[in-house]
Amino acid sequence: MSTILQKPPIASKLPQVGTTIFTTMGKLAQENNAINLSQGFPDFSCSDKLIELVNHYMKSGFNQYPPMQGVMPLRERISEMVEGLYNTSYNPDTEITITAGATQAIYTAISALVKEEDEVIVFEPAYDCYTPAILMNGATPVYAQLNQPDFSVNWNSVKKLISHRTKMIIINSPHNPSGTVLTAKDMKELEKLTNNTDIIILSDEVYEHMCFTKEPHQSVARYKNLADRSVLVSSFGKTIHTTGWKIGYVCAPANLMTEFRKVHQYLVFCVNHPMQLAIADFMKDAANYLEVKNFYKQKRDYFIKLIKGSKFTYEQSTGTYFQLLKYDGISSEKDVDFAIRLTKEHKLASIPLSVFYHENVDNKLLRFCFAKKEETLEKAAEVLCKL
Ligand code: PMP
Ligand code: GLN
Repeated sequence: MSTILQKPPIASKLPQVGTTIFTTMGKLAQENNAINLSQGFPDFSCSDKLIELVNHYMKSGFNQYPPMQGVMPLRERISEMVEGLYNTSYNPDTEITITAGATQAIYTAISALVKEEDEVIVFEPAYDCYTPAILMNGATPVYAQLNQPDFSVNWNSVKKLISHRTKMIIINSPHNPSGTVLTAKDMKELEKLTNNTDIIILSDEVYEHMCFTKEPHQSVARYKNLADRSVLVSSFGKTIHTTGWKIGYVCAPANLMTEFRKVHQYLVFCVNHPMQLAIADFMKDAANYLEVKNFYKQKRDYFIKLIKGSKFTYEQSTGTYFQLLKYDGISSEKDVDFAIRLTKEHKLASIPLSVFYHENVDNKLLRFCFAKKEETLEKAAEVLCKL
């Protein structure tokens, strides 16, 4: 008698989700030995001082579990930084938690605060980790489309999307993938829209130190009425050039933070101990976050200068370390096809923008990461100018 081994059938909880575009394009770049301006990460190293500090704390024996909420010196440092920049004070004891990057922070916040049947407003194009977290919690994403071609918000249409089921609005400024920022006027509109409601704002501010406009970065922490209902998420990965360390943080009023920590303690419990201590020391020097803006502004300007003669068209990025380029003067291919061909045939990897829309809206735009050494940008521009 033969036994037939049967695998149990799996009803996927995320049937519409595949492998992320960052993994896909990164792999394609590697296989084709292409210049990789797809996934957002620097191709230069972080500060030696920072590495020495991590080393120091590892050698000093800080290799076991830190407190669940994160080490106090880092929470205190974040509290001082946020207060200095945005004029709102978060209590390090009850209102700040260190997370395994912003991705875990976002997933945790949504899991802790959004219930089945709730609706969450998401602006499209949207960074890819919001919708799966909403779906995994049985809630419904409701999409607000950013205006074309400038990616501004149409607040009247957002207003129409609000219902008695709206539990959360997710904002992201500086915005990935468009490279645009919200203005003070936008924040006032958001304030008006949410006043006297129970709506929570999840504010993804991981590029807070890369805002290139005259008006400074508009954090929810600048607006008392918004801060009181907001979960502010940021990540050291962007600020100190360590995306692989996955250290981020959340600031939120104590009532929201209590719920956040209920989930955080069972999702990861705590995050890398020596790195938290090292970052706390490193951030004592304010130049280590205040100078990031000019550093990346120069990279943006250099990249733009290099591609001036190309057939691509663009609006200069006003935030993040991404630049969008429109290729409708070069090809009528779908953006995914064009990005794949650019990687395979011309050895340059980028990210097609349609993947950030649930209906794959194709505006013939590609996203390029300029967090790269000058020589990398020069090689990339050479390819772009030949097309
Ligand atoms: N939000 C946005 C807008 C991002 O671009 C990223 C990734 N860079 C994240 C969140 C996730 O950040 P982390 O790598 O710290 O998880
Ligand atoms: N945030 C990075 C980007 O937009 C990707 C991070 C990831 O691969 N999840 O390129």
